[in-house]
Amino acid sequence: MSASETGLAERPSRLFDTYVRMPVALVRGEGPWLFDDQGRRYLDALSGIAVCSLGHAHPRLAAAIADQASTLVHTANIVRIPQQEALAEALCEISDLDRAFIANSGAEAIECALKLARRHAHARGIEAPAVLVASDSFHGRTLAALSASGNSAIQAGFGPLVDGFVRVPFGDLAAARQAFADNPNIVAALVEPIQGEGGVRPAPVGYLPGLRAACDQHQALLMLDEIQTGMARTGRWFAFQHEPGLVPDVITVAKALGNGVPIGACLARESVAGLLSVGSHGTTFGGNPLACRVGLEVIKIMREQDIPAQAERLGLALLAALKTRLDGTPGVVDIRGRGLMVGIELAEPVPELKDRAMAAGLIINVTRGNVIRLLPPLIIDDEQVNQIADTVAQLVQARFSA
Ligand SMILES: *Cc1c(COP(=O)(O)O)cnc(C)c1O
Repeated sequence: MSASETGLAERPSRLFDTYVRMPVALVRGEGPWLFDDQGRRYLDALSGIAVCSLGHAHPRLAAAIADQASTLVHTANIVRIPQQEALAEALCEISDLDRAFIANSGAEAIECALKLARRHAHARGIEAPAVLVASDSFHGRTLAALSASGNSAIQAGFGPLVDGFVRVPFGDLAAARQAFADNPNIVAALVEPIQGEGGVRPAPVGYLPGLRAACDQHQALLMLDEIQTGMARTGRWFAFQHEPGLVPDVITVAKALGNGVPIGACLARESVAGLLSVGSHGTTFGGNPLACRVGLEVIKIMREQDIPAQAERLGLALLAALKTRLDGTPGVVDIRGRGLMVGIELAEPVPELKDRAMAAGLIINVTRGNVIRLLPPLIIDDEQVNQIADTVAQLVQARFSA
């Protein structure tokens, strides 16, 4: 659909030009479906970038929002907030961690984790600490989060960056061990279990347990960014739970936690959480009754419907459907993923593909220029899995058949 059809082209916006936006306005959603202002229907295979995992306009979430909005939205963290305490309890149950700090976004959860690492360092008498981070990582857009990210595009023009990061190739355990050996100031490692923006790249088998062992050896914290992989996306509550016995010190959560209502959380083991004492960290909005009520309802629905198992089953179905249709297709380099976090790596950049998908009634994303990223709502059904695979396969075949 052209921009002139929607009238959007004639209406320039006063927003900062920080995004390339498709000339479509989505005005309504229902489950895995989205509708534009012309009444056209799209199947959502992106979930607002891993956010709306329970689909759009979920009746129970809408009811929880309406009820809480007409009861109490905000008090500030000067009093006890029962919804916040209940959400912390639920998050600790599903993660096996001990404490939660509730924030408003992923980047804020990362800031909290990085502040924990700094406190951990200073408690050990290390004055110039460093955090081990990975190439091609993404941790958000605040200054510390973009400094931690392995992405020069999001850092360009924002120097001086925040100090204290040591970068190693993602997935390379020997390089991580060497960095620890070379630099006694490394007090933590921060990695994504599956790199999202970095191209849907799962950590190789043995990488996370190996990092855990290296962190233990050097009294460093293992901090996992589960902002994209968490909340059932990969077939477990958190992606680290695919590794039997692995216990991180800190994880960051956001995206799907509020199904679209802004919220983030930093979860930590008891002794680590204790590093942030009274007055050392805070947020005005974070943990308000509205956002926490929604987070609680998200976890409740996911538990009742065993959404982690659903994501695992449908993810296997989606991977199989894509492989059946695309294996051996020219231009297809790799098809990979875990649960409903799936990437199709192509031989060339495909900037036009998400627009072609939109025209075909499917919402997808392309990351790193050449990786189709599929993050459908976890409530899709088998027919919709096949519909996603059919459309994606047709688009890829059309692109590389010339
Ligand atoms: C999206 C994302 C972030 C940043 O979250 P925001 O809510 O946009 O600040 C951080 N880490 C990962 C892995 C993400 O996918």
